[in-house]
Amino acid sequence: MKYVSTRGSAPELAFDGVLLSGLARDGGLYVPDGWPEFSAAELRAMAGQSYAEIALQVIRPFVDGAIDEADLKRIIDKTYAGFDHAAVAPLKQLDRNLWLMELFHGPTLAFKDYALQLVGRLFDYVLTRRGERVTIVGATSGDTGSAAIEACRDRDQVEIFILHPQGRVSEVQRRQMTTVAAANVHNIAIEGTFDDCQDLVKAMFNDTAFRDEMSLSAVNSINWARIMAQIVYYFVAGTALGAPDRPIGFSVPSGNFGNVYAGYAAGRMGLPVAQLIVGSNRNDILARFFETGSMRMEKVEPSYSPSMDIQVSSNFERLLYDLLDRDGTAVAATLTTFRASGNFSLDAERLARVRRLFDGFRLDDAGTLEEIKQRLESSGELLDPHSAIGTAAAARLRRAEIPALVAMATAHPAKFPDAVEKASGRRPALPPRLQDLYDRPERLDVLPNDLGRVEDFVRQRQRGLNRRAFTEQGKTA
Ligand SMILES: *Cc1c(COP(=O)(O)O)cnc(C)c1O
Repeated sequence: MKYVSTRGSAPELAFDGVLLSGLARDGGLYVPDGWPEFSAAELRAMAGQSYAEIALQVIRPFVDGAIDEADLKRIIDKTYAGFDHAAVAPLKQLDRNLWLMELFHGPTLAFKDYALQLVGRLFDYVLTRRGERVTIVGATSGDTGSAAIEACRDRDQVEIFILHPQGRVSEVQRRQMTTVAAANVHNIAIEGTFDDCQDLVKAMFNDTAFRDEMSLSAVNSINWARIMAQIVYYFVAGTALGAPDRPIGFSVPSGNFGNVYAGYAAGRMGLPVAQLIVGSNRNDILARFFETGSMRMEKVEPSYSPSMDIQVSSNFERLLYDLLDRDGTAVAATLTTFRASGNFSLDAERLARVRRLFDGFRLDDAGTLEEIKQRLESSGELLDPHSAIGTAAAARLRRAEIPALVAMATAHPAKFPDAVEKASGRRPALPPRLQDLYDRPERLDVLPNDLGRVEDFVRQRQRGLNRRAFTEQGKTA
């Protein structure tokens, strides 16, 4: 399988190239040049198989020989054996037509672990085979940093530096990053905002000499391998609930559009995905788009679901590529317009096409707290604010012809204890693996918002040889 850029003018790459390079050289995102398809018989055979067994089948055609099959199987088995629920991504029935898929049983309690735990291992494997070492840098406003750190800790081929805004991430989030005792993990608290952190990371990538000297790389949410790993749980849920013989819908709380795009990909691969609901908080650019066909940027406002406080959903470009009939030039032109004017629109025919599958939904903070309270009363489930937007959306927008709708629970409630307690009167406890989080020693360095100082720090802490150069943006959010 070959991978092509959504903007049509970057070189085609095989899987290992796409894994390591993230963003394409023309500024686009890599997508496979065709979708592998599963027959009805193959889907039926998945029902009842383990998460790792289904993962191997879904992932194999995308890797397409770039990793030896026995090694791939070993890596996948090892990745999901480390999750703290035997089902990896358990399904719970909430009412007659609605199921919850719990995607918070990885080390950092958010769905990002399902992809990043695998991607960290794939990086290590591919780099070892090539005899290369990289420096991963990224900026985080909370969740992504800890998931990336847990994915890369103790991996010999990787040194990881994560920048967060000093005093502006929650205590749970900060401790999840700073208490990781691994020599290759470096936390930098920047005296500034998240935007400052992100600008510093971009500036490091744009400093070509530094980028080459340090072999900079990234594991950001536009990395194809993260999407690929997320497709797996759509097959797990769908085949458990009657696919291919019953249509299935999903409700997904969304920020960068990576998770819900994986659901779209599962549909292209033969899973009968008949509805995708895109949930958002007051930052509702996606919900407005699916209502009107017009994508219009607005200012980001803080909410109780901070991982969805996003203005531009980077992975949306992958859907746009299909909507524009895989015409990279048209995608590039549309996004240039969007960056310049903060706005673009789909024509009526394409809007109708996209709305056959997608629905947008928005819920403000008050509605989110109400949903947490109601769900606890009606089903006994204590939801985090992101997941609550998904279940509220599912209840409101499920189409009558869909017998089974799955709401994705993207975080454990203990990651957002203040909002959950406010809504429910209950303070969720951290699961056993994190129970001593508040007793563990923290390691972090505080640096000013100054590119030269940050680059010097990375140089000093870097412990190994680098033999690789990348050209990409270093955002991990
Ligand atoms: C990252 C994140 C999201 C948004 O996921 P996207 O793939 O960016 O749409 C939703 N919920 C939680 C808890 C997250 O950490």
